[in-house]
Amino acid sequence: STTVGILGGGQLARMLALSGAPLGLRFLVMDTVADACAAQFVPLLQADYTDQHALAEFASKVDVVTFDFENVPAESGQWLASQRPVFPSPRALAVAQDRLAEKTLFNELGIATPRFSAVLSRADLERALCDIGTPCILKTRRLGYDGKGQFRLKSEADADAAWAALGGQAETVGLILEGFVAFQRELSVVAVRGRDGEFRAWPITQNWHHHGILSASLAPANCSEALSATALQHAKSVADALQYVGVFALELFERDGELLANEMAPRVHNSGHWTIEGAECSQFENHLRAVLGLPLGSTDARGLSCMLNWVGELPDARGALSIAGLHWHDYGKSPREGRKVGHATCVGDSMAALRRQLEEAGRRLGREAQVAPVLAALG
Ligand code: ATP
Ligand code: MG
Ligand code: MG
Repeated sequence: STTVGILGGGQLARMLALSGAPLGLRFLVMDTVADACAAQFVPLLQADYTDQHALAEFASKVDVVTFDFENVPAESGQWLASQRPVFPSPRALAVAQDRLAEKTLFNELGIATPRFSAVLSRADLERALCDIGTPCILKTRRLGYDGKGQFRLKSEADADAAWAALGGQAETVGLILEGFVAFQRELSVVAVRGRDGEFRAWPITQNWHHHGILSASLAPANCSEALSATALQHAKSVADALQYVGVFALELFERDGELLANEMAPRVHNSGHWTIEGAECSQFENHLRAVLGLPLGSTDARGLSCMLNWVGELPDARGALSIAGLHWHDYGKSPREGRKVGHATCVGDSMAALRRQLEEAGRRLGREAQVAPVLAALG
């Protein structure tokens, strides 16, 4: 049988393994901590990602390598690629790990982005502020997630505070200053590209964030044919340019009918969790199919879905399980502020059916504020 090696043992690895079980696949996850949530039912190799001995053991036990965590050091990915097929490739990963490299690639491909400028020093920040104007956001180029490593500047007077918060990282992970986009909506394209170059995308997803962390996703988003075609074309050009293999997400801001690319995630993505129950083939199964060179599954939606993220702590499971059409996911993690501990996906065969489920979920789970923007979007 085939064993898939996953670097990183979080909830993404856990859901990859769950979706791979019916395909007869086996898994081995490598993580730096012993209590990684995928390790509750997947064998774990606990080691540092730079531990050469551990990498060799990992490579010897798996047939193919993929990622739950994209910030594995590039040299480790490269070494593994000399031993086993690694998807996505270390080169694709290197671009997606770096906000400056990914935005530069987007622009090269004719994909608009927020204005951006690399910041290496305090003087650079001054220059970039003149160039980009305010409001703007200073971000670390690497290692940021869930809105971490970001500082929002309302005016130039915030420059000192921004530098105090992030300046120390200018020389380690690098910084980038981005214009703040007053978008109407956030959308994402979750797509998959096979080893043979076949490209498929799930319907566009609309996303809402709370304190920089994904809070809710609605799919298919209410988009014009033209907007949806442009978004999919952007995702395809990025995937082709990187000769990308596997699932990835392209995050977009919609402003006055125009799409600006924010970032890409070189892995299965939180805004694609709805595909587990809401699509013919989920992002997790299609990622495995892609990295193994198997035929890709259909990315068609089954009805209308809304994913609600549980951040910090889970709401009442019994209440949730009594809602027809709601699918419950508990990642088996201990509660902690800002931590993604689970999600639920409501799937309805009509807008009215989804609306009823979300109203009930909001009420029963005490999450009215979380479902409110989705209900407003449903009209
Ligand atoms: P993720 O968890 O999606 O990987 P991240 O830490 O990489 O998050 P971003 O996606 O860049 O960070 O930013 C998080 C959120 O902050 C965005 O989804 C968006 O809501 C807001 N944001 C980021 N950049 C901008 C911008 N230039 N203009 C307006 N809002 C922004
Ligand atoms: Mg990100
Ligand atoms: Mg993001």
